[in-house]
Amino acid sequence: MIASQLLALPDFSLIPPFYGYILAGVFGAVIGSFLNVVIHRVPLEESIVFPNSRCPSCSAAIAFYDNIPVLSYVMLGGKCRGCKKHISARYPLVELLTGLLFAAVAWHDGLSFALPFNLVFSAALLSLVFIDAEHMILPNAITYPGIVFAVVARIALPYLTRTLYFDDLPSLAHGALSNTPVWVTSLVGAFLGALIGGGSLWLMGWTWEKLRGIEAMGLGDVKMMFMVGAYLGWRLTILTIFVGVLSGSVIGILLMARQRKKDMQMLLPFGVFLGIGSIAAILYGARLVEWYAGQFR
Ligand SMILES: [Zn+2]
Repeated sequence: MIASQLLALPDFSLIPPFYGYILAGVFGAVIGSFLNVVIHRVPLEESIVFPNSRCPSCSAAIAFYDNIPVLSYVMLGGKCRGCKKHISARYPLVELLTGLLFAAVAWHDGLSFALPFNLVFSAALLSLVFIDAEHMILPNAITYPGIVFAVVARIALPYLTRTLYFDDLPSLAHGALSNTPVWVTSLVGAFLGALIGGGSLWLMGWTWEKLRGIEAMGLGDVKMMFMVGAYLGWRLTILTIFVGVLSGSVIGILLMARQRKKDMQMLLPFGVFLGIGSIAAILYGARLVEWYAGQFR
């Protein structure tokens, strides 16, 4: 075998894409197992590294063979091997959803430099969704690193992919900023997106507070939308908020109808719906926005 053959990377195009998606799904389920630790411990301000996974009831360490995503839960009948206490269905659900999400992102990106970035970003969003659903908080421990991550991605991805990768980048780079380096243009896009995302959430909360005299929106939502806005750019951020408000309102009205509440006052974890909107925007946003813009041409 000659040296150049030894040095050549494996030709991934020979692997049928279907197996790639399966692989991404299995990898996602393993990451989902880690996200369970994040979702359980970050709101309690515990370390996500030490100690190893433990049963929430009896604190017995969970053996590796009882920690296989989804399968272990099914095999153990949803109970701890030691104390036989019921384990929350959230654990296999998060693993399953992360697996599906990773397969979908792999389908969206293919094998590219954008793939690892989008996987990390959507994993962070999924954690925020589940933490907000349970605790009604969006921890700084996730949103602050998320903002930094978005800025790094903004600088790195146009160079790594050798394309104007982000949704807002082509129009910015061919417009007023055509003479600036691409990383500067990309950061301007991040700034605009963060301003639109965080700003509109802040404005919604402020308006509601003035109208009703109650705090409606936490700063967590604003920080989350700084992170999302910086990464996705202004167009997909508006789409995210639209999907979030729409799905949140539908669920809110359904819940109020069920509980026969008349005063329209119910606390909904808005971050859940913003998270779902963001993931939808990553996967389908560009197509939706193009379709919408096409209606006016
Ligand atoms: Zn136990």
